[in-house]
Amino acid sequence: MSGILTYVLHYQGEFNKNSLGAVTEAGKLAKELGGEAAAVVVGEGDDLTDDLCASLGKYGATKVYRARGPEGLAQPVVDVMAKVIEENGYDYALFGGGLLGFEIGAGLTARLNAGVTMEVTEVKVQDGKLVADRPILQDSAIAEVDYVGTPGIIIGRLNAFEMAESGDGAASVEDVEVELSDWSTKARMIERGEQRGADVNIEDADILVAGGRGLGKAEGFQLCEDLADALGGAVAATRAVVDAGWYPYAAQIGQTGKTVAPKLYLAAGISGAIQHKVGMQSSENIVAINKDPNAPIFEFSDLGIVGDLNKILPKLTEAVKAKKGG
Ligand SMILES: Cc1cc2nc3c(=O)[nH]c(=O)nc-3n(C[C@H](O)[C@H](O)[C@H](O)COP(=O)(O)OP(=O)(O)OC[C@H]3O[C@@H](n4cnc5c(N)ncnc54)[C@H](O)[C@@H]3O)c2cc1C
Repeated sequence: MSGILTYVLHYQGEFNKNSLGAVTEAGKLAKELGGEAAAVVVGEGDDLTDDLCASLGKYGATKVYRARGPEGLAQPVVDVMAKVIEENGYDYALFGGGLLGFEIGAGLTARLNAGVTMEVTEVKVQDGKLVADRPILQDSAIAEVDYVGTPGIIIGRLNAFEMAESGDGAASVEDVEVELSDWSTKARMIERGEQRGADVNIEDADILVAGGRGLGKAEGFQLCEDLADALGGAVAATRAVVDAGWYPYAAQIGQTGKTVAPKLYLAAGISGAIQHKVGMQSSENIVAINKDPNAPIFEFSDLGIVGDLNKILPKLTEAVKAKKGG
């Protein structure tokens, strides 16, 4: 069976949005290629019901392989996907990015002696094959990659593939028995953590204090949080800092993040790259703090402050608190 296989992460009966993006993309590409779009789900509980698995058909999957195993860990999923690919001959495995997708994709590549492309932003069909676009040289150019032999492993950037319901109906569900490798059961999930700030709905906030690489380190976000608290707003971030692990992905604004239009968007230590701009340019008032007077963000700010955010943000917080207190 030629086609594309994806992995879908689930938790407590809900599928991960990023995984659904990969399923949507695989569905579209498989139609163009003429093969099948299949998905793998792995879990131990009873929440992976027939109906839930079949519902992946809404996003373009035609078949779902369901295996028993610990959910949320990479190695067991590598065991399952390797078996499904070897037995069914899928040509490609596609992942929606995120740490787990990177880990599984890399493990699968090694296991199957396959070719891999990571940080992919777009996939297209050319001459009956998939070609992956991968930004290089600090995103200033795009490399196009195709594969010699199968399977080809494609790992997207987080949120690169948008989820969408294609309305094609239910997928067929097949249970697969997989004997997990010894090493696959050596890691155990002890606890799932909540990400800092992940509970804040930044799309609804009237005031956003956004931080970029100019904050210098993850701890620098405290300055944004303090000001956002004082103003009664929420904290947002650029892709550069969420990729660096300084702040949760849920806070990312831009082309591959969220689009917002608050009353006030205060950008601290953000250069103003076009991919960030498209997510916040409709804000009513844009205020930028940047130490570089030539930073592109000043070109579309209502108010620009040239200076060191480490000095300006605490003073601003103090001033807001004093005003509110008085
Ligand atoms: C396909 C694609 C999709 C992308 N999607 C997104 C997206 O959704 N969202 C997004 O944000 N980006 C996205 N990017 C990345 C984007 O191109 C930029 O790389 C990113 O926005 C830069 O983030 P930044 O402004 O935090 O960092 P930088 O560009 O490094 O800017 C840091 C700024 O901080 C200033 N600074 C440094 N120290 C201080 C200080 N002490 N005080 C004041 N200012 C200081 C510097 O002068 C500089 O202007 C995407 C890129 C590609 C190719």
